Amino acid sequence: MSEMTVCFTMHGIGVSGGIAIGQAHLFAGMSAEANHYEITAADVQREQRRYDRAVKEVRDELKDLTESVRHSASAELAPFVKVHSLLLDDAAFSEAPREIIREQHCNAEWALRVQLDELMAQFSDIEDPYLREREDDVRQVAERVLGALAGTQRRTMKPVKEDASILVARDLSPADVILFREHPFAAFVTDLGGATSHTAIVARSMNIPAIVALHHSRTMIHEDELIIVDGTQGVVIVNPDRHVLAEYRLKQNQARLERDKLKRLKSAPASTLDGTPIQLQANIELPSDVEPVRASGATGIGLFRSEFLFMNRRDLPSEDEQYEAYRDVVEGMKGLPVTIRTLDIGADKPLDGEGYVAVNPALGLRAIRYCLAEPQVFNTQLRAILRASRHGKVLILIPMLTTYHELQQAIAAVDLAKEQLKDEGVKFDDYVPVGGMIEVPAAAIALPMFIRKLDFLSIGTNDLIQYTLAIDRADDRVAHLYDPLHPAVLNLLAGVIRTAQQHEKPVAVCGEMAGDVELTRMLLGFGLRNFSMHPAHLLSVKQRVLTTSIPDIAPIVARILRTDEPDKMQALIEKLNA
Ligand code: PEP
Ligand code: MG
Repeated sequence: MSEMTVCFTMHGIGVSGGIAIGQAHLFAGMSAEANHYEITAADVQREQRRYDRAVKEVRDELKDLTESVRHSASAELAPFVKVHSLLLDDAAFSEAPREIIREQHCNAEWALRVQLDELMAQFSDIEDPYLREREDDVRQVAERVLGALAGTQRRTMKPVKEDASILVARDLSPADVILFREHPFAAFVTDLGGATSHTAIVARSMNIPAIVALHHSRTMIHEDELIIVDGTQGVVIVNPDRHVLAEYRLKQNQARLERDKLKRLKSAPASTLDGTPIQLQANIELPSDVEPVRASGATGIGLFRSEFLFMNRRDLPSEDEQYEAYRDVVEGMKGLPVTIRTLDIGADKPLDGEGYVAVNPALGLRAIRYCLAEPQVFNTQLRAILRASRHGKVLILIPMLTTYHELQQAIAAVDLAKEQLKDEGVKFDDYVPVGGMIEVPAAAIALPMFIRKLDFLSIGTNDLIQYTLAIDRADDRVAHLYDPLHPAVLNLLAGVIRTAQQHEKPVAVCGEMAGDVELTRMLLGFGLRNFSMHPAHLLSVKQRVLTTSIPDIAPIVARILRTDEPDKMQALIEKLNA
């Protein structure tokens, strides 16, 4: 460390856990700054053509990117790149700046800057966090066009000296993240972005530490400075002294050893010390996620969030397109069960082009409510899922069930799709189990009403917590109140598991609680035998299962359910994991 360096710490939102230590590499993205100069009336058309050329260049670049990711390990990024292409084709980008050049006799960069300011002003009136994240996409597209106007490639990433470089950026678009495949970064940190941003989703799927919302990292951190990224705590330490560095190197090594040790558990059957077998399944968003699922040793897919096939596009996927996607997953799992959740659109996952923004989207026309309001969309999906069922073991999962009529209508819709396929002579598995997500408190409380008509249950704790505590799970201003250990949540959870067992119906947890190793023993104590989680968490949860004796933990778990004081609750959880 030179005499001039100063050690300091920055805090943001950790969106992907783990520790990385390395030299900062400042991402040379274009800033959306532009100089202004006047042009003569005679030069207007030439300037407009210059603008058109830049747009075309970016369009071609995005097309190449779409092609290069479509069949790659990063296929999940393709829809995000497509959003940028769609934005670029919108009149807001393709036409409006040309008009500004004509009206104001200004250079193309300035016209784009004026248009961007106009678009940003419109975004500032939007409250929906998901829509607001689209603001980042708009800015990223504008920056690409500015880059093309400047005649420079946006991708000015210098070769990385060692794989311990840490990318520091104002913001990263999913298209930027694709470059990670060629440049093995150890982590990334950004000034913008939220926990639900595309960048956060991609970071988690890449399994490298990442922190967003640091606000000033791009200006405060200098190229090649040594930094520590603690993605679990959401902390960046810049120019650490040798004691701090030694401490984090130790933590990093311990984590590495742990991970290597865990890999050996991949094919070990998951059962507790007292011999109780436990199912550990995986959650996926897109067919390309099957590979990490198989590498994790999961015994099936407990949650396929099918709505990701419907997002970031203006049209709906056809029956054939959906069938192929579901079939790919089912065949990829080679006979292991695949639970396909029907479309959970709405709330923070609206369809593109959906003009109407609900007052309270999470309480609006979401999931099964949407599907029953759009029977054709639902029918197309159910037919595609049923057609895929002949290639392996498929289960259908209905999200957000709240009323008896929804349950009846959902089951009738499955029966209708089956009848249609039979009439058409199309083969499918007639015994596809139909299960329901228990994620609305009403369903958890009035469970017997649902259980009788369902083949299995899956508890969506992410929403069950959101709806029980009235905390918007996507709003960072109330994130500190989102508490999986609230006694109301725990009692609902334990009650659902108990009632399911009494009715001899299989029950799983597929929300984030299932992948939280600190909660594994508590859930086992509640009677849970089926967990579904992100594949990256599966082996550490398996290790916890292998070292748990259910009879031994029973008394502590009983006390947890009787406790209503947060401090005592925390102490009991610690005791459980000691
Ligand atoms: C849940 O709500 O816990 C769940 C698994 O579904 P999602 O996170 O997709 O809403
Ligand atoms: Mg949910």
